[in-house]
Amino acid sequence: MDALSYKEAVVVFKARTRMLPLKANFKGSYESLICDRCKDPKSLDTEKHLLEECPATKDIPDDVKVEDIFGEDIPKLQAIVKCIYGTLDL
Ligand SMILES: [Zn+2]
Repeated sequence: MDALSYKEAVVVFKARTRMLPLKANFKGSYESLICDRCKDPKSLDTEKHLLEECPATKDIPDDVKVEDIFGEDIPKLQAIVKCIYGTLDL
């Protein structure tokens, strides 16, 4: 695989433009921005928490950093998309 599918590209675009369904992307809609998946009171429901910190994120490779969503590494982007699909309700 050396290209993203249309569906994968849509998820990458949403991640890059902060349109994923994370509380921190829709601040006005929530009283608390704590991550509902792990419920850690010190967490914030952000892309960084999702990809680097949250123990409830599914199938995330250890070496993924939030900056990787802006990179061009296709296998890494596909791994990120898979984890976003597995973890968030898109
Ligand atoms: Zn969390």
